[in-house]
Amino acid sequence: MRWPPVQAANGTQSWYRVSAPPSHAHIALLGSARADICVVGGGFTGLSAALHLAEKGAKVALIEVGTVGSGASGRNGGQIHTGLRQRQKALERWLGKEHARALWDLAQESKALVRDLAARHGIDCALKDGLVIAAHHRRALRPLAEDTEHLRRHYNYGQAEMIDAAGTARCLGTSVYPGGRLDKGGGHLHPLAFARGLARAGEAAGVRFHEHTRAVRIEQNERCVRVQCESGAIDAGQVILACDALSGDVAPQLAPFIAHVESFIVATEPLASPLYDTILPLDAAVADTRHVLDYYRKSEDRRLLFGGRESYWTPPADIAAMVRPRMESVYPFLKGARIEFAWSGTVGITATRMPHFGRIGSRVLFAHGYSGQGVALANLGGKLLAEAALGAPERFDVFARVPAKVFPGNAWLRKPLVTAGLAWFKLLDYF
Ligand SMILES: Cc1cc2nc3c(=O)[nH]c(=O)nc-3n(C[C@H](O)[C@H](O)[C@H](O)COP(=O)(O)OP(=O)(O)OC[C@H]3O[C@@H](n4cnc5c(N)ncnc54)[C@H](O)[C@@H]3O)c2cc1C
Repeated sequence: MRWPPVQAANGTQSWYRVSAPPSHAHIALLGSARADICVVGGGFTGLSAALHLAEKGAKVALIEVGTVGSGASGRNGGQIHTGLRQRQKALERWLGKEHARALWDLAQESKALVRDLAARHGIDCALKDGLVIAAHHRRALRPLAEDTEHLRRHYNYGQAEMIDAAGTARCLGTSVYPGGRLDKGGGHLHPLAFARGLARAGEAAGVRFHEHTRAVRIEQNERCVRVQCESGAIDAGQVILACDALSGDVAPQLAPFIAHVESFIVATEPLASPLYDTILPLDAAVADTRHVLDYYRKSEDRRLLFGGRESYWTPPADIAAMVRPRMESVYPFLKGARIEFAWSGTVGITATRMPHFGRIGSRVLFAHGYSGQGVALANLGGKLLAEAALGAPERFDVFARVPAKVFPGNAWLRKPLVTAGLAWFKLLDYF
């Protein structure tokens, strides 16, 4: 595998951007164009939708305001989670057992899909198995254990097991946790390498990409739908809206359903042995049970990538200074280790913490709001959007049938109210 040594960047940019294989440049849309289906957004959702559509023979144009993977999909923790943000038991109570089971099956499929896409298209993205959910406090152990047992008993999920404090310390190389869950069905990958690999596969299947192209609005009539961009327009039979946190900018009717928070990640300098071998000896990824969680894993070039903290307004000028105390509280022996990269990304969240799928009129399909758990689910979301666009909406509708809730407040009040709500959850982490 490659992964060449990368140039340190004084803690101001994403390690992913300097370590991912380069992507092809795609010219911006200029003037008018036509497609069977226009996909708006070049993250996992849009890339997967475009690829699956093109593989079925559709003429697809994908527009992206930045570059492929420049949104959350190329900036995230790379962690592949099992299930959904809501526990299965809660979903059963809320939606009934049958619906909860169908959602679980699709979530399971999402992990397999990522592994299959990487294998089928030869995407070199450092894909690895293993995810530990670490209990941040003793009181978090019981619900985690109950959930693990519930999945084993009712969903026949045998890849996750509870581990005690000593077992967790062995897996993680730190003794700060009272226990956790080792999930061999979870895993991690280099998200930008994966996004760019999906784009290459899409190109090979015939998708036409336009980067640096902002969609400003969508206009529908009986005959077609137009995506009006700053630099031109695309007329299509259908549109797939895959802008996650920003979908409300293109389709204002979606704005009450999606909020966004900034999350932060740092990458240390490459760590020498024995330090490197002490941290995460199993090479699993870790997420803890906090609402504002710590999440981390090792990189192929021997760094620790550590994510955590959140902000709801302007990101701080010094991200490294904000994240470092969290990292050092987990690994005190990293005090003084150099942080060479630091970056932020926007997480699209819903009021229910469930992805929000649906339709606007008869020609627009959308999927967004994976609420911090989109590495696997957004790729599946794209596949289900493609199925629905091609006339098989049944599996898409398993998600679309989950009742969506709006965030309280109007355009002005929504952000402060959401901030207050999220700050409340943050407070709960201390009790
Ligand atoms: C810092 C961070 C850490 C995370 N960690 C994890 C993790 O470890 N595991 C996990 O499962 N999930 C994680 N997530 C969540 C996950 O990254 C997302 O759920 C997922 O990437 C969403 O994919 P998407 O394609 O729907 O959205 P995005 O990747 O955001 O893609 C949307 C794209 O639309 C483009 N766009 C927006 N508006 C327009 C417009 N008007 N015109 C044209 N293009 C437009 C954007 O530029 C963007 O590229 C994390 C997110 C962040 C930010």
